[in-house]
Amino acid sequence: MVLIRCMVGRHGDNRWTTMTETALVRRVRDEVDDAMGLVGTPIEQPVPRRPRGMPQYLVGHEGRLDVIDTTLTELPGLFLTGSAYRGVGLASFIAERTAAAIVSARVAHEATTTSALAD
Ligand SMILES: Cc1cc2nc3c(=O)[nH]c(=O)nc-3n(C[C@H](O)[C@H](O)[C@H](O)COP(=O)(O)OP(=O)(O)OC[C@H]3O[C@@H](n4cnc5c(N)ncnc54)[C@H](O)[C@@H]3O)c2cc1C
Repeated sequence: MVLIRCMVGRHGDNRWTTMTETALVRRVRDEVDDAMGLVGTPIEQPVPRRPRGMPQYLVGHEGRLDVIDTTLTELPGLFLTGSAYRGVGLASFIAERTAAAIVSARVAHEATTTSALAD
């Protein structure tokens, strides 16, 4: 038995949002059959729909992030993380959050040290 997960849709192509579950499954199965030559009948074919589940980066995304990063240097202690920024996969956002957590700990430490020195 195998589990095959297929994802449908991309920026600018929302045809799947109006397709019935039957039509969607048929279309995806045809494409998978073409690509892999599958035989057999699926036991289950659930179709969860997440219309806004995956960020779609547009041209200029990196430039916008650079502007945000520059602005954030004026706001120590504020961090933006998540799949909307630097990678939609789990690995990307874990790396991003780890980096944010390290910087956050440093900012908190510096704030505590500065506060202690002022006392
Ligand atoms: C169908 C699908 C399959 C995927 N498969 C994979 C995969 O196989 N491998 C992989 O690496 N990645 C996969 N991803 C991507 C992965 O799920 C995302 O990269 C990851 O979940 C992004 O985490 P996030 O914290 O940025 O966003 P999310 O996981 O969406 O978390 C955001 C959280 O913030 C909450 N929230 C939103 N707005 C507010 C608000 N105003 N106030 C309070 N809370 C709020 C939401 O309820 C949610 O809990 C998949 C994504 C989808 C949609």
